[in-house]
Amino acid sequence: MFFSTINFYIKNKYGYILDELMIANALDSIGHISDVIDYKLFLYFLFFTIIPSIILFKIKLQKNNFVFKILSLFCISILILILVLSMPKNTPTFAINAVSPSSYLSASYRYYKRFRVAQKIAKNRQSLTNFYKFEYENKINKDEQDELKIIVVMGESLRSDHLQIFGYDRPTTPNLSKINNLLKFRSQAFFTITTPAVTDLLSHRLNSEFQDVPSEKSLIDLMKNLSFKTHWYSMQSSKQFGTEMLNIMAMEADNYFFRDRIRIDFPNKENLYDEDLLPYFSKALEDKQKNFIFLHSFGSHTHYFERFPAEFKKYSDQCGKNPKICTAEQLNNAYDNSVLYTDYFLSEVIKKIDKSNAILFYISDHGSFLGENGIYANGSNDEAKDKAHNVPMFIYFSEKLQRNKNYRSKLLKAKENQNKLLNPDYFFDSILDCSMIKSSLISDRKFSVCSEIN
Ligand SMILES: [Zn+2]
Repeated sequence: MFFSTINFYIKNKYGYILDELMIANALDSIGHISDVIDYKLFLYFLFFTIIPSIILFKIKLQKNNFVFKILSLFCISILILILVLSMPKNTPTFAINAVSPSSYLSASYRYYKRFRVAQKIAKNRQSLTNFYKFEYENKINKDEQDELKIIVVMGESLRSDHLQIFGYDRPTTPNLSKINNLLKFRSQAFFTITTPAVTDLLSHRLNSEFQDVPSEKSLIDLMKNLSFKTHWYSMQSSKQFGTEMLNIMAMEADNYFFRDRIRIDFPNKENLYDEDLLPYFSKALEDKQKNFIFLHSFGSHTHYFERFPAEFKKYSDQCGKNPKICTAEQLNNAYDNSVLYTDYFLSEVIKKIDKSNAILFYISDHGSFLGENGIYANGSNDEAKDKAHNVPMFIYFSEKLQRNKNYRSKLLKAKENQNKLLNPDYFFDSILDCSMIKSSLISDRKFSVCSEIN
């Protein structure tokens, strides 16, 4: 009764059932539990725990004969059946989960299985600094209080050929087009789904040495070892099937949370969009110390029409969730609206960093099929893959950093490399080298766009 009351309270306040993710969040947020509790919780306990407990305690059990017991059981079963049948569609599981002890028992088990198992794997991963030497060369003026900020924005399903700045005939990047010294590259994605793509991009391993769970920790851990404060904010859900590796890497950061946790901060919003990451981003930027901030956007993930607020609906996109019933034009329209929104989101991130010593890296994890050869979304097809999974990569040195001669020379070098076709192997090394982090690992293999490249 005690746990059911808590479950019921959370459901009514936040619209959530206490599932494995919320258990993980609750354990993570134990330090600021006062944000969650208010006086209503005591009323819930009074009416749903204390009073029913007193009533139950007072009831005197009587010995009844066998026929009476069978009859009672029958009547209760009929009553439950009537209750379940009379509920609107979808209500029964929801209602049962809200009060049934089995829901949080199974959630605790799922929590143990998902998060504890992931933590176990994570424990065996070694820091990259155990194998290679890395050194951050501080080239920021010593008089300044504002240390370097490295921002990585992970894009989602964005293909280069739908971006006006790469020659697309629709004005899908009105904001990015106006940004001076935005360095733009095209990269050919290796993977067509998120988890391996992001794992690969944040690993020092070249694609030829890729492992589903790399034995070494990611870029996040490396940055932490170089004394950067690390943040992982994701508009993607950690509940999505097969995202364990994303959880493992997120847990390497000092601060991390996913869409599910962000949802709690916006209880009145019907839909969340990438811009809802911005308040967390601004807060992290206020910190004057060295900061590494990873933002995982939802970008142009299917269903495209769900990824942007109404004001970005420039092209008509009414065709629903099944892409096969959409015309090519409708699908392109919905997709282009999501591109317009990414243009807005990314330019907002850039606006926020101009006055800091900051450098931003963006890449899309993979592209998306828009019906070519009858294929949609994350699909793959050898003939059309090069086009659908050719993705943009951007680097931007803040206005303040552009005035620093050391970073300026990195910028000019990267400019020379803009027209070369890259692949994800270039991402990891470029982040380090462009940010003035040295290591024999990266200087030997020449995959940084801020230096001479392969
Ligand atoms: Zn993806």
